[in-house]
Formats: sequence, structure tokens, C-alpha cells
Amino acid sequence: MKGNEKLENETSEDIPLEKQDVLTSTRTVIKRALDRLGYPQEVYELMKEPLRMMTVRIPVRMDDGSIKIFTGYRAQHNDAVGPTKGGVRFHPDVTETEVKALSIWMSLKAGIVDLPYGGGKGGIVCDPREMSFPELERLSRGYVRAISQIVGPTKDIPAPDVFTNSQIMAWMMDEYSRMKEFDSPGFITGKPIVLGGSHGRESATAKGVTICIREAAKKKGINLEGARIVIQGFGNAGSFLAKFMHDAGAKVVGISDVYGGLHDPDGLDIDYLLDRRDSFGTVTKLFKNTISNDELLELDCDILVPAAIENQITVNNADKIKAEIIVEAANGPTTIEATEILSNRGVLLVPDVLASAGGVTVSYFEWVQNNQGFYWTEEEVEERLEKVMVTSFENVYRVSSSRGVDMRLAAYMVGVRKMAEASRFRGWI
Ligand code: GLU
Repeated sequence: MKGNEKLENETSEDIPLEKQDVLTSTRTVIKRALDRLGYPQEVYELMKEPLRMMTVRIPVRMDDGSIKIFTGYRAQHNDAVGPTKGGVRFHPDVTETEVKALSIWMSLKAGIVDLPYGGGKGGIVCDPREMSFPELERLSRGYVRAISQIVGPTKDIPAPDVFTNSQIMAWMMDEYSRMKEFDSPGFITGKPIVLGGSHGRESATAKGVTICIREAAKKKGINLEGARIVIQGFGNAGSFLAKFMHDAGAKVVGISDVYGGLHDPDGLDIDYLLDRRDSFGTVTKLFKNTISNDELLELDCDILVPAAIENQITVNNADKIKAEIIVEAANGPTTIEATEILSNRGVLLVPDVLASAGGVTVSYFEWVQNNQGFYWTEEEVEERLEKVMVTSFENVYRVSSSRGVDMRLAAYMVGVRKMAEASRFRGWI
């Protein structure tokens, strides 16, 4: 049995947890959340797969004159609550399965922070580190032309994700506006401020993570002043977070990028590292004494923040992790089985769908500002983000305590409820 047949004939619960890919393991937790909430099987059938999945082939003329065909995806998980929303990643490892899972996570995030959106996600299989600016521009514009029928300010609103940034959002917005023949800032979020971007959007994911760390530390009775923190990944989320933690008086004792990690028990010089970091979030190449990413995760610390990629904390290292608090800034860094091991050990794990929702929250603020043509100050954005994140953290924490489930399952329970209710009112289930 292969491919989709498996989907129809087996439930995700039939596959051993550690063998599950990100989509299957997401389904496993969705199923558990829906069961706990007492929803029938049809609701799971609706939610286990995006409502729409588009695969596109994008021809791009490369600088040497040759034509290269890139594969891209756009998944729209569920639009019962409102238009779908979520980033576009440019990465060589992008797969259809991953994009589907990421779109489901966006639905959950929107539900958890209570935004009027469903989840969407896009991806292009490419390596932007090997591409020139003009090639990236042609690819970005080609992607928008290819998916233009299914996206739009009231249909599906893209945003940045791994290896995409405000410049790429600007090209995509320009392409969409030209095609539609009217200026459409609300088509995409994460734009440069001069094109209708929002203050505070660039640092929003890290701000949201910072708020979750602060709230989790309160629950655990840990004083952030002097607390030892390790951050895996020095991209958008990881680098801003290192700065915020450093400014809050915490001691950032470890950071890493794809090439390796840096460790100093007395605290790293974050300002220096930020200064030397390149646009792809790499800095460790400049140092001789590096440690591996595996070693980094097991460092002695109070708070661990995986802010890189999927499947970093697994059955193989969950027992060796010393942090009392894990806050997931990346999407999917901890497997379900590792989540169970950590929760049984009393580690407070704040899951991705809650911790990393600051980005989409400020994207929503950006879209609102675009729609009303009236722009907010940075203070207004931050005040609103603070309120949303604290309320969402408390909601998930309360469900976790009252239902006796880990924070991930609690977050999924909060996240699926609105989508399920909206689908029911629409008469879909
Ligand atoms: N890519 C980000 C995420 O995974 C942001 C999505 C958005 O702003 O729409 O949450």
C-alpha cells in the first residue's frame, strides 16, 4: 500500500509515533483533540487534509540564460472561519506533505489567538542561498502568477516564512497588484513599512515567543533576570529573540545556526553576534570553537527555545534535555513522543502553535491596517500583541490544567474548536 491509499485505510494512530511524518503526527494530535472535545469522526475527516492544495511549476530564466523549472505549492486548510492565511517558504527540502502540515498548523494558530482566518501555507522547492536577487525576483513573481486564481486579500493571504523576507513580499505584492490592475497591499503581509507593512511585524514572532517565555517562567517560578537560555537557530525568530532575552536580563548561553552552535556559560555577546550575522541567519562559521546542534540542545540551561526546523527533539534526546521550560519558536521542532517524555518529566513545553503565533497576529494587524488605510504606531501594535499573547497563553494553560493534558494537546483543543464550530454553522459537517 502506498501514497494516499494509506490515508484512507489507516488512521494515524496505527503508525508508531516516532515513524510518523509531520502531517501524520499533526493528524494524530488533531484526532486526540477532537475526541477529547467530543466531536464525531466527520469533523476529523474534514480537518485531516487541506480543503485545497495547488501544485505549480514555475519556469524561471536564470542569470546564465538557462531556464529552470521550480515546483511550488499552496495549501488552504480550512476557510470556514475566514480567508486562509500563512507564509511561503523557500527551501530545498519543501515537500507537499510538509506544506499541508504547515497549513493545518496555521489554522490552529489562528484559532488559538482568535483571528478571523483559516490556515494556509505555501512553499517553493529552491535554495535561495544559491540564487541571485534577480533570479529570486523572477521566481517570486512567477509563483504569484501561478497561484493568482486561488489567492487574494479576501481569499488567502501569504506572508514570510523560512528564507523569505519583506523584499520578496514586496515583489509578490507588486506582481499581484499589476495583474489585478489595482493596488492590493492587503494581498500579502510582512511587507516593507513603506509599502503598507506594519510596525513590529519583523520582530513579532520573537516578541510573541518572549511573552510566552515570560508567562511560562512565572508559572515555573523562574526569575528571567539571570535565567540561562539556549536558542537553536539564528534566523528571524532566533536572532530577535536573543536580543529581547539579552535586553530582559536573561543570560543567552547558547545559540546556533545550520553550521553549528556557540556556547558560553557566562553568556554570549549577543550584540556582537547580531552584528556579524548574515541575511540567512548564519554566524558560527566565523568561530573555531563550535559545538554541534545536538550538543546545543542538551546544554545545561533553564529555558530552551528551538527556533530552527522540524524534528529536533525526539525520543533520542528528550531524556537528555536539561531545560525546565521549552518554548517552540520553530514549527514542529518536537515529536509527539518526545513531547510525552518531556511532559512526564515535568518540563513545561509551550507548543509551536501557541508560541510562534505572534507573527501571524501582527500579520493580521497589518492586514487590518491595509484594509482601513489607517496605520498604527509601534506602541499600539505591541500593546495589542501583548494582550493577544497573554490571553492565548492563559487559555491554553487553563485547558491544560483543567483537562489534565499537556500544553500541545490543550493548544490543539483550543485551536480546533472555532474551526469546527464555524464549519458546523456553515453546514459542512
Ligand atoms: N510564517 C509565519 C508562521 O508560520 C507567519 C504567517 C503569517 O504571518 O501569515 O506563523
